[in-house]
Amino acid sequence: MTLSRGREFLAIPGPTTVPDEVLQAMHRPAVDIYGEELIGVTDGCLDDLRRVFRTRQGRISIFIANGHGAWEAALSNTLSRGDKVLVLESGRFAVGWGEMAEALGIEIEVLEAQPQRAVSPEALERRLRADGAGEIKAVLVVQVDTASGIVNDVAALGEAIAASGHDALFMVDVIASLASMPFEMDAWGVDVAVGGAQKGLMMTPGLSFTAAREKALAAHARAGLRTRYWDWTVREGELHYMKYCGTPPEHMLFGLRKSLDMLLDEGLENAFRRHALLAGATHAAVERWRSGGALDFNVHETAERSPTVTTVLMEEPALGRLLDWCTGTCNVTLGIGLGPFSGHAFRIAHMGYVNAPMMLGALGSIEAGLVALDIPHGKGGVSAAVDHLGASLREGACASGPREAETPRSSRACC
Ligand SMILES: *Cc1c(COP(=O)(O)O)cnc(C)c1O
Repeated sequence: MTLSRGREFLAIPGPTTVPDEVLQAMHRPAVDIYGEELIGVTDGCLDDLRRVFRTRQGRISIFIANGHGAWEAALSNTLSRGDKVLVLESGRFAVGWGEMAEALGIEIEVLEAQPQRAVSPEALERRLRADGAGEIKAVLVVQVDTASGIVNDVAALGEAIAASGHDALFMVDVIASLASMPFEMDAWGVDVAVGGAQKGLMMTPGLSFTAAREKALAAHARAGLRTRYWDWTVREGELHYMKYCGTPPEHMLFGLRKSLDMLLDEGLENAFRRHALLAGATHAAVERWRSGGALDFNVHETAERSPTVTTVLMEEPALGRLLDWCTGTCNVTLGIGLGPFSGHAFRIAHMGYVNAPMMLGALGSIEAGLVALDIPHGKGGVSAAVDHLGASLREGACASGPREAETPRSSRACC
């Protein structure tokens, strides 16, 4: 018995659903790498990425690489062998970035968070104040940890660095949050931001980005780890193809152009609100299911739950059976647990090109699986998700978008 005919829904936190318009924009012959059209596409994408990162002057580089490539680019462009960086742990991803730094000959120190909690700005400020000698050259953090489902308060962390008076570069991975929730590179004092194409940006895997502001560019001038391929300065060369240190990834640029158009047409604030609403619906469903005892949230502080991915703790053998059932019977693929969560959690992505029917369908499939497999769970998860959306969108319940005056730092502005 199967209900799987119809489109697959890849409810994993990357790669996310690629819109047909984006796929179609890529389906065309190659063009001259020196031609006006391609140069225009590059320049337009760079301008629009600045809008997405919310930086006026930051220097954007586009790499033909996944997020790991841009991680290495961010490190090698700004640091030297023997430098020390402080890694702010909140799950798996900042630690992974730190391991990459270690392999480059950078010394790492991990500031551990409380279990299942976001990074504490106070703990960061305390650690930086204790570093009177200025040994720490950079602070590495993720906005959203895609393994734990935690969102860190990047604005507050930026304030903590400023309050400490420490000179370290503030480097933020926004791969799982860019274009899905507020991020303010300039206003929050972020020196280097790292993004990827295949999550909130609705593109295929294969492109990633760094954005670097003045202080990072000053560090770049002295950095000892620079290599020619990743080098920000080499990529500023006269000829257009130097922006990619070789043949531009033409088709991916056509796709990126289309995805940026779609995103900016929707409006970033509207995309943020859509993510907040769909995350809220997901949380409402999990809140009901958890009363059965077989599954639970990883993140209990509601303000620290990511608007892009929800990590649900569950043990084997129910875990594997549920994921297989959702894929096999309903054609909904959920994310597996990563790192310490492997075999102990699944993840529901609500990120990128997703709408209410997709998310309600995914939640409904999970709930049907819980019933079919006799996994104990509280009833009415989908109904709670529906109520959440309905109540949040009730006429007059909330203005059409986040209030202008509000600093857009909360993932849950207005809803
Ligand atoms: C996906 C992800 C990465 C890694 O990106 P890849 O494209 O898989 O290399 C890094 N950081 C975060 C927060 C992510 O979600």
